[in-house]
Amino acid sequence: MPSESDKDEQFPTILILLSMGHQRQALHIQEHIALSSLTTIGLGGEAKYFVTCAAADDIRAAVEYVKSQHLRVQILGGGSNLIFNDTGFNGLVLKVANRGVVWTDEGGSVLASVQAGETWDEFVRACVEHGYSGIECLSGIPGSVGATPIQNVGAYGQEVKDTIVSVKALHRATGEEVEFTNADCGFGYRDSLFKSQEKDRWIVTEVRFRLRTNGAPVIVYPELRRHLEHTLGSGDLGTPATQQEASARLTLVRDAVIALRRKKSMVIDPNDPNTRSVGSFFMNPILGPDVFSVLQLQWNVRHPGEPIPSYPSGRMVKVPAAWLIEHAGFNKGYRGQGGAGISANHTLALVNYGCTTRDVLELAQEIEDRVLTVFGISLEREAIVVE
Ligand SMILES: Cc1cc2nc3c(=O)[nH]c(=O)nc-3n(C[C@H](O)[C@H](O)[C@H](O)COP(=O)(O)OP(=O)(O)OC[C@H]3O[C@@H](n4cnc5c(N)ncnc54)[C@H](O)[C@@H]3O)c2cc1C
Repeated sequence: MPSESDKDEQFPTILILLSMGHQRQALHIQEHIALSSLTTIGLGGEAKYFVTCAAADDIRAAVEYVKSQHLRVQILGGGSNLIFNDTGFNGLVLKVANRGVVWTDEGGSVLASVQAGETWDEFVRACVEHGYSGIECLSGIPGSVGATPIQNVGAYGQEVKDTIVSVKALHRATGEEVEFTNADCGFGYRDSLFKSQEKDRWIVTEVRFRLRTNGAPVIVYPELRRHLEHTLGSGDLGTPATQQEASARLTLVRDAVIALRRKKSMVIDPNDPNTRSVGSFFMNPILGPDVFSVLQLQWNVRHPGEPIPSYPSGRMVKVPAAWLIEHAGFNKGYRGQGGAGISANHTLALVNYGCTTRDVLELAQEIEDRVLTVFGISLEREAIVVE
């Protein structure tokens, strides 16, 4: 396994040549890369090693290299749900960057086989432009396609689990490639097999989605429906007769979603001072009906007749984390130690206003402690903090 140093001083790389079966695979590994430039929250020290894998074979080769060198590895997509430590990452950060989409017409629906490194929102936009429905409410979410099954990305009444047919992934230890069916993936609210039982074991290389051709958008989320009613006079966009009509209707939904997200600083916008975040830092707690009843009773002792907002989630009850945080005494715009704060436009987003990872984690802890004291509920983090 020969290796040699690259002489390029601006982008110093180590060239690694690996024997993979009958062929040789080259990997360009960079050293001391600032992680703050690779994450939307803009935090973290340096990655000791960094590699961009533009093809599935590169990912396989990187996995072999990591094994042979006994390195820690951290998989990175768009870095929009990840927070690295101020001390950096003492191993290899592997950026999944394989690109390409293959569309297969199935008559009434289309199967999109999407490489993991595709940008999620570019894929959503392409579907909307083609008149393919099923993911239009997931417009404006940053990150890569390969990360979407990890936490079953969702917003405005849609989740990727509703359109994912299968997920192809490489086992990090064995290099085995497996295609997981939708049922295999164990999807739940911001959860999947890849985040729970099989956490950190697989690298997603491709995701297959089934979308409806000429499908009418289905608007279930009340805020989105109200927005469409306000701007168009109707929240029901009807059934389109042609692909052009489908595309036009889906575009209306996409634009509406992005407008709503923008008001909450939930699209990446370098001109927005609240933009440096990982989106929602906390998940909405899902409680058993009995636990929720006790919570409501306790709240009503101090606030008679005031209902706690809640939504059914199967047999459970979902309570907005934002409500809990606000009623535990934190407002939008709250500033913690250092330059970490709660977004001025979104209670669940912790923002880097010029701080360190430590500041953000201290603020998160302060919020978690107070919500636990006031409501007896432990908030769960949606963001992935790399230890
Ligand atoms: C402004 C903003 C708004 C957001 N809004 C939403 C929202 O509405 N709904 C929502 O669900 N999320 C939202 N998010 C969170 C985030 O965008 C999603 O979780 C997204 O899917 C993360 O993609 P990524 O490529 O950036 O993943 P990364 O942040 O790079 O990684 C996230 C996790 O997935 C793993 N991972 C990434 N790629 C792969 C792969 N190919 N194989 C295996 N593991 C992988 C990483 O190791 C890490 O554990 C938002 C974030 C921001 C900054």
